[in-house]
Amino acid sequence: MSENINNNFQVVNEGFTIREAIAEAHRCLHCKVPQCRKGCPIENDIPDFVHELSMGNMGAAMQIINNKSNLPAICGRVCPHEKQCQGHCVLNKKGNPIQIGKLEQFIADFDTKMNLTREKLPQKTRGRIAVIGSGPAGLTVAGDLARQGFHVTIFEGQHEPGGVLMYGIPEYRLPKAVVRAEIKKIEALGVDFECDCLVGENGITVDSLFRDGYDAIFMGTGTAVPQNMDGTPGATLHGVSQSTYFLHNVNAVNEGAMSRNAIPLKEGEKVGVIGGGNVAMDAARTAIRLGADVTVLYRRTQEEMPAIAAEYEAAVAEGVKFEWETTVEEFLPGSNGRLAACRLKTPEGEREEKFDRIFLAIGSRPANRIVSTTEGIEVDEKGYVKTQERPFGMTTRRGVFAGGDVVHRPQTVVLAMKAAKEVAQGIAQYVDAIKLLEDVGVEIKA
Ligand SMILES: Cc1cc2nc3c(=O)[nH]c(=O)nc-3n(C[C@H](O)[C@H](O)[C@H](O)COP(=O)(O)OP(=O)(O)OC[C@H]3O[C@@H](n4cnc5c(N)ncnc54)[C@H](O)[C@@H]3O)c2cc1C
Repeated sequence: MSENINNNFQVVNEGFTIREAIAEAHRCLHCKVPQCRKGCPIENDIPDFVHELSMGNMGAAMQIINNKSNLPAICGRVCPHEKQCQGHCVLNKKGNPIQIGKLEQFIADFDTKMNLTREKLPQKTRGRIAVIGSGPAGLTVAGDLARQGFHVTIFEGQHEPGGVLMYGIPEYRLPKAVVRAEIKKIEALGVDFECDCLVGENGITVDSLFRDGYDAIFMGTGTAVPQNMDGTPGATLHGVSQSTYFLHNVNAVNEGAMSRNAIPLKEGEKVGVIGGGNVAMDAARTAIRLGADVTVLYRRTQEEMPAIAAEYEAAVAEGVKFEWETTVEEFLPGSNGRLAACRLKTPEGEREEKFDRIFLAIGSRPANRIVSTTEGIEVDEKGYVKTQERPFGMTTRRGVFAGGDVVHRPQTVVLAMKAAKEVAQGIAQYVDAIKLLEDVGVEIKA
């Protein structure tokens, strides 16, 4: 296989042309009670931006989107639209909903290309906020608070911001240029980024951030620790590995940041992917792009599979095979000591099947790097951070807030954004309150 794998990762959803976008926007019925908005977790004003788009007013459409979302070019591409906005569109009853995701994508891309919107920004005088992690949760908190007059610095452990958007979701679904363009817009709101900076290591801790003068800290650190199958015999065999590491390395090779050797998979290999969520679909579709023969092994039925329906359909169309209600009972070694086969339990009974490689995609949980280096942040038995209602999103440590997957378990981009929007309000209220108290001489210790 050639060093250059980029040709196999060309974008699958090219989006609308301007003519197509306007024609699609004209189909909107402008319902009195728009169900599409109800279906959107962050209540995007969909009929309003669709109306502006239908009139060709791209700047106005973008401004409406900006009121609710910091990441429209991303949501337009990766949200489960069929369950949300489009699923609720009245035209969906006839099986032909407005393609809201593609319209949102079109407006955001048009704005990026034409550099349309210039926001009036307030002076950053309300306080200093440290955001740890630059996935959808961290970016949303940063964007919302910067727009409200806070000075925000994002601390990100990876070399580039974006979290799963940059290092998880593959290029063919979410081009990295799109992620970078969205992040540039957040930077333009006055947000500072410190990358290659893992909080909880090298002396940078929550306490040191408070000592540096931050008024509040937001943890949007996601779930970086993938679940393994240690209870299953042979799970540590060479050839059994994590989908997230595979996807990370493929993204890095696509970006030219790693050599092709960083991807162990060889053309023609028989690959099994264990799981039924978006990570499993991405690993399967990525492996097939690298020339593998891929089967997804899912322990439940097709109806119970949590992956976005469109991702499943695309995987089937690309040649990925699926085995339902199937579990791996044992990973079996070959004569060379590495994985050679799996003993599968299926509704028809048990059988052995040859596999050269297995990618696990059975969930993930938070790392404990921050809670183990900070006093007073309580987590549940699986490591998820506990937060409270007032101020919304504050952890058991005063002044430290959390949101997104690190609180709510692995969910979706837009649900991480929804949680983060609510926590941003909690942070704003908290910082305003401590500033008022400071003004009257009461010092609050974080
Ligand atoms: C492969 C894959 C495909 C997916 N596909 C979809 C999809 O199609 N649609 C969808 O809606 N959702 C999808 N999801 C889920 C979605 O991406 C997540 O729910 C979302 O990214 C969670 O956002 P977050 O900001 O909470 O965390 P993350 O995106 O995980 O971001 C956390 C960030 O924090 C950083 N960090 C962690 N610890 C530290 C520290 N100590 N110091 C500094 N930085 C730190 C990490 O490096 C990372 O950048 C997918 C997830 C994966 C893994």
